[in-house]
This record gives sequence, C-alpha cells and structure tokens, in this order.
Amino acid sequence: MDAFKGLPEAKVIWDPSELEPFRVDESHLRGVQPLAVVKPHGPRALRELVHRAKTEGFGLVPRGAGTGKAGGCLPTERTVVVDFSEWPGDIQVSPQDLCLRAPASAPLREVKGSAEALGLFYPPDPNSWESCALGGTLATNAGGPNACKYGMTRHWVLALDALLEDGEIHTFGISSVKANAGPALGQLLIGSEGIFGFIVGATLRLTPMPREFATLLLPVKRWEDLLDLPGLLCGAGYLPSAFEFFDPAVLAELRAHGPEAARRLPGEALAILEFDERGCTSEPFLEGLLDLLGPLADGLEIASDARQRQGIWAVRRLTSAFLKERHPKKISEDIVVPRSRLRDFFLGLDRLGCPAVSYGHLGDGNLHVNLLAAGETDPVVLEHQLMDLFRLAISLGGTLSGEHGIGLAKRDAFLALSDPAQIQALRALKRALDPQNIFNPGKVI
Ligand SMILES: Cc1cc2nc3c(=O)[nH]c(=O)nc-3n(C[C@H](O)[C@H](O)[C@H](O)COP(=O)(O)OP(=O)(O)OC[C@H]3O[C@@H](n4cnc5c(N)ncnc54)[C@H](O)[C@@H]3O)c2cc1C
Repeated sequence: MDAFKGLPEAKVIWDPSELEPFRVDESHLRGVQPLAVVKPHGPRALRELVHRAKTEGFGLVPRGAGTGKAGGCLPTERTVVVDFSEWPGDIQVSPQDLCLRAPASAPLREVKGSAEALGLFYPPDPNSWESCALGGTLATNAGGPNACKYGMTRHWVLALDALLEDGEIHTFGISSVKANAGPALGQLLIGSEGIFGFIVGATLRLTPMPREFATLLLPVKRWEDLLDLPGLLCGAGYLPSAFEFFDPAVLAELRAHGPEAARRLPGEALAILEFDERGCTSEPFLEGLLDLLGPLADGLEIASDARQRQGIWAVRRLTSAFLKERHPKKISEDIVVPRSRLRDFFLGLDRLGCPAVSYGHLGDGNLHVNLLAAGETDPVVLEHQLMDLFRLAISLGGTLSGEHGIGLAKRDAFLALSDPAQIQALRALKRALDPQNIFNPGKVI
C-alpha cells in the first residue's frame, strides 16, 4: 500500500469491499482483486503513478465506464485500476473548425449531445452510448449501428491526447481533417485497448446534423432473403446509415418474453433500416427503395415522425440488455464477414451445429452471434465452438471482432488465429512504447 501513499491529485481506494465492482465489466469474465483503484484528478497523479509502477513493478489498467465486453479493463495479477471517471475537463465545441474537444471522462451521451445542441453530429453510436465514456470508446475504437455509413470511432478523431511511458501527456494530430506529417501515431492508440498508454482527451471531427430520416421496420417472409439485402442495396446505390437485424430465434425470444412493444413484432426475421441523406423521405427515393424491399417484405412500417422513429429504435437498443437478463451467462460475440458473404456465413454456422442466435449490424456484416447456453456448456466444448465460429468468419474474409476488441476474452483466439507477423509487429510496438510492460499487461497480445 505504500506505493499509493501521498499520491497527488488522486482518490485512492483500497478497501477490499470497495474494490469488488472493479473486478467486472460487461463481459462474462471476472478479474483478480487489484492492488488498488486510483481515480486521477490531474496529470501529476498519472506521472507519479507511472513512475511508481516502473520502480515498484506493478501494472496499470485503464478503465472508463466498465461497459466493455472483452474484459479489457479487468485487473490482472499485480495491477492497479486507473479509473478515468473523475478526470477533469469540459467539452468545448468549435463550429468553425467543425470539431469538439473533450476529456476521456466525458460520457459519450454528453459528447453527442453537446454537438447536437449546435446542429452538429458526432456519429459513433455504440448501443451503450448512454452509459460508456469517451475514453473507453476511443480505446476500443467503438462502432455502432451507423458505422455502416459513417465508419467507426477512429474515423472521427482529429487529435488525441495520451500519456505515454515517460509519464507526460502528448498530443498527436491537429484540429483539421488534413494532416500528413508522418504516420499517424494517434491512430495507433485508438483501438489499442490501453496497452500503449492512457488516453486523456481528444479532438473529434463533427459534421452537420442530418435533418431528414427514413426509418423502416422491415419484417421478412424468408430469413435467408434478408442476408442478400445489404449487398443488393449497396449495388443499387443505397447506403443506409444503419441496417440492423434480428434472426428468427432472437425475434421469437423478443416476441415471447420482451417488453410490450416487442410482442407485436411481425415476420420470420426482422430488419431496421435507416437512411439520413437529404431527399430520403421523398417519393422517388422511397419508391425506388420499396421496389427492392417489396418482394421480401411481410408488411413494412415507415416512421412518419420522431416518436415513431424512436419507437422502432427502442426495440433494437434494448435487445442486448434483454438477452443478458434472460441468459446471464450467455456469450455475445461480434464477428464480421463481408456483406457479400453473409449467406455463406449462416450456412456455415448451421453446418457447424453451433447452438447460436444472432442479431446486430447486418449492414456492415458485424454480427452478434450469441451462445445463450454458454454457462451450462462444458468449457472445452465451448472453446471449440468459439474457435470454430472465429475460423468460419476468418475463412470468409472476416475477423473475430468488429467492435468489442480483444481484451482478455479473445486474447488466446487472437494469438492463435492471427498472422504471426502481425503479432510480432504488435509486440515490437509494445516493447518500443512500453518497455516495462506497465500499461494493461496481459491484454490483447
Ligand atoms: C448494452 C451494451 C451495448 C454495447 N454496444 C456496443 C456497440 O454497439 N458497439 C461497440 O463498439 N461496443 C458496444 N458495447 C461495448 C462497450 O460499451 C464499448 O466498447 C465502449 O466503448 C466501452 O467504453 P467504456 O468507457 O465502458 O470502457 P471500459 O469498458 O471501461 O474499457 C474498455 C477498454 O478501454 C480501455 N480504456 C478505457 N479508458 C481508457 C483510457 N482513458 N485510456 C486508455 N485505455 C482506456 C480499457 O482498459 C479497456 O481495455 C456495448 C456494451 C454494452 C454493455
């Protein structure tokens, strides 16, 4: 405990009962008891922590709001959790530069809201957007439904403030979309899950807020037909800002046990599509769209006002929490396959005999494949099921994580299934940026 005595600009927690909440996140894993939890209130705390970590040989595990699904913020042996929830700073929007500065502690909800208050839009929208922190979304390169059109968090970061192993805060990037003075080191930190340093703030790119939305609830007669739709739409020049889906099993669960609004959901499977470009509610646009959707549809609802739009989205937003409540020990994966291979993926999944149900981001091929019975499955069998699932995605040109990251949960699979040259390069970078392995040890690589 002496390591934390007199730590400046910080709140330190070491009472074992108060450490308990920091051993879990939203994954199925549980971390060991950390040596302590430190809530830094300024750069002196971090500088001193880094110094003590190096001299006394403990690791530093950054934590945002703890909503991660890969166990990335869970403490490993001899580590201190560094909780950024009290890191100081305000959100400042610059409409002239179409950007916003915010500290890592800023709730994503407030970041998006501050932009919106000035008619501007920060697109990244993980479904946890009401509860996660900006720092966590940067460290995991979070994506959400509208990544389909707008891309993931890294596409919206102009500059990043990060504390590296020298104990100092450095800024990578400038407040402009054009900056090309050498490789972008800030981009290396985005999605690095805290293994290269601490992210303390960022300058984010904004765009004018879309003002027109066509939001469609599309029940389909035959589930398989839905799988060709993302490719069909893109091929015909339609790029939805979001394209979400529920397979027949998830839809049946929602209908049987979900909230009132979910019980009336029609169709064998269901999709939510949204378009947000100017003119998307015009007759010619919708007519062209309906020509494509009509043959698949088993009834179709188009939101005509903001309340209806919200109603459609509410069902999607609650799905993850609903399934978790019904199946607390389920495992939710987030594999990706290219749009054009969606049908092959689900055929392959059937062939594997993997007892999984799926929902998620069909428009960009990012599928939440859920093993509902994971808690009751023999661990060896479960590991085989997961490895088969990852191999299938990779064999189709996809990957084992589209948004949650690697953390602890997928580390073994990531190491086993990645190109060895990639792992070697990542480890070389880790040695260069963090030679004493103090930042989030035991995660990712
Ligand atoms: C209901 C639900 C829905 C979700 N939907 C989505 C979704 O649609 N898309 C998506 O991408 N994710 C989703 N997630 C996962 C999660 O919310 C996101 O990954 C989110 O970005 C994590 O933010 P956080 O602040 O909770 O980070 P944490 O869970 O606290 O941390 C996540 C990782 O980031 C690191 N980290 C945190 N802060 C810092 C920092 N300041 N510096 C360096 N490293 C740091 C941690 O060490 C850890 O490795 C969902 C989670 C839930 C519970």
